[in-house]
Amino acid sequence: MNGQTFELGDVVEMKKQHPCGTNEWKIIRMGADVRIKCEGCQHSVMIPRREFEKKMKKVLKKAELTSEE
Ligand SMILES: [Zn+2]
Repeated sequence: MNGQTFELGDVVEMKKQHPCGTNEWKIIRMGADVRIKCEGCQHSVMIPRREFEKKMKKVLKKAELTSEE
């Protein structure tokens, strides 16, 4: 375990950036699968939670510090 905690609304950095060049993803759905949305091009992907935990590098912005649009 790397001690990373994440929750709905957090913006995270992944180990691999999106082909559009952005590496900021917002968590928009949490469950057995996690849905994240690219902050650059708004493309969203769904990945199994376990895989997400492996691929996530760090949390950039916590949900409570991010203003909702
Ligand atoms: Zn993108």
